Amino acid sequence: MIYKRSSALFAEAEKVIPGGVNSPVRAFKGVGGTPIFVKEAKGAYLYDEDGNRLIDYINSWGPMILGHAYKPVVDAVVEKAKKGTSFGMPTEIETKIAELAVSMVPNIDKIRFVNSGTEACMSAVRLARGFTGKDKIIKFAGCYHGHSDAFLIQAGSGASTFGTPNSPGVTQGTAKDTLLANYNDIDNVKALIQANKGEIACIIIEPVAGNMGCIPPKSGFLESLRVLCDDNNILLVFDEVMTGFRLAKGGAQELYNIKADIVCFGKVIGGGLPVGAFAARDEIMSYLAPLGPVYQAGTLSGNPLAMAAGLAMLEALDGEENVFTRLAEKTEYLHKGISKVLTKNEIKHTINRVGSMISVHFDENEVCDFDTAANGNNDTFKAFFHGLLNEGVYIAPSAFETWFITDALTYEDLDFTINAIDKLAKQI
Ligand SMILES: *Cc1c(COP(=O)(O)O)cnc(C)c1O
Repeated sequence: MIYKRSSALFAEAEKVIPGGVNSPVRAFKGVGGTPIFVKEAKGAYLYDEDGNRLIDYINSWGPMILGHAYKPVVDAVVEKAKKGTSFGMPTEIETKIAELAVSMVPNIDKIRFVNSGTEACMSAVRLARGFTGKDKIIKFAGCYHGHSDAFLIQAGSGASTFGTPNSPGVTQGTAKDTLLANYNDIDNVKALIQANKGEIACIIIEPVAGNMGCIPPKSGFLESLRVLCDDNNILLVFDEVMTGFRLAKGGAQELYNIKADIVCFGKVIGGGLPVGAFAARDEIMSYLAPLGPVYQAGTLSGNPLAMAAGLAMLEALDGEENVFTRLAEKTEYLHKGISKVLTKNEIKHTINRVGSMISVHFDENEVCDFDTAANGNNDTFKAFFHGLLNEGVYIAPSAFETWFITDALTYEDLDFTINAIDKLAKQI
């Protein structure tokens, strides 16, 4: 494939935008080469600036669960735009999407809309701190909760010690309140709680981790976290920015039948426009301004275009009983197909999958936390990524990302992808 125009556009972009991108994951740092510039997209396909068609397995990193340019969403946005794009005053559509979200998701009475997943998680933690009157939080190594300071803390060698910032600009003062635990390691969490008795406001977790590949919670892990939180007056915060409205109508809470205290949303809830949200039972949400003392605000929060897109998306997902089963079936088909051709070509791999989230790791051992995710062979991944791209299949340019299956994908698209992998597997 030819990427002449993409390369030229990237060179232009680099002059005026740091690294040529407005979010680092879009750069090809992990795989080499230059990013592809998209011209348009429809259904399961991206069309780039050089006229190449690519089958899309990223789908804007999750939001486009029903495919690109999904008509009801596009129509809703276009209609709304004609009537004014922002008012900074309440509008009826905000209540409509709130009512629908509250009806779809278990254990929430009220929801506040923001503009990104980052804002949702940042605000959820502030609310948890305000509600409990405690400062510290526990997060898990390899889980991503957006780029606000408290979350940019990485495990050193000892994951159970105080965090150190993994970005300059995050102060030690902030880092000392973020404690790091290993995903799927309940004893680690117990030890942290023991060592910080009475100081922990919340545990925040991706109930299915999606930012180190797809890593399911081990059986009983989320249940044990729930018990630990109850016993220690700690709030359990589910970051469902990726899993919300994707794994089921009610997200991971519904799938695993666990009650979180605060739930964060993003991605699918905005139907491709910038939307995030956080939600909880009434008692907790009442702590939020203007009802309560915890401040949180946004000039463009609840923006009519964003709400129109989100509402159309949630209505589509709510109205179709089988959509989540159908997505899971397509993902299972892909899983089996890829596994078969990689095995046939003697390429060591592990494939993780929950619902419509799937990741391929080039290591034969179980991938269940950040360390095991980091064990994958990155040279194999690079060859795999570029090989697929050359066949017209676009996966995330990083071995640490989940693939997002969209309902627009047909079984022919899946077969095409599996055959492409069979072809390129002979060379890697
Ligand atoms: C994408 C993501 C975020 C951040 O959302 P943005 O809209 O990019 O700010 C937070 N948490 C999880 C689990 C995510 O996948």
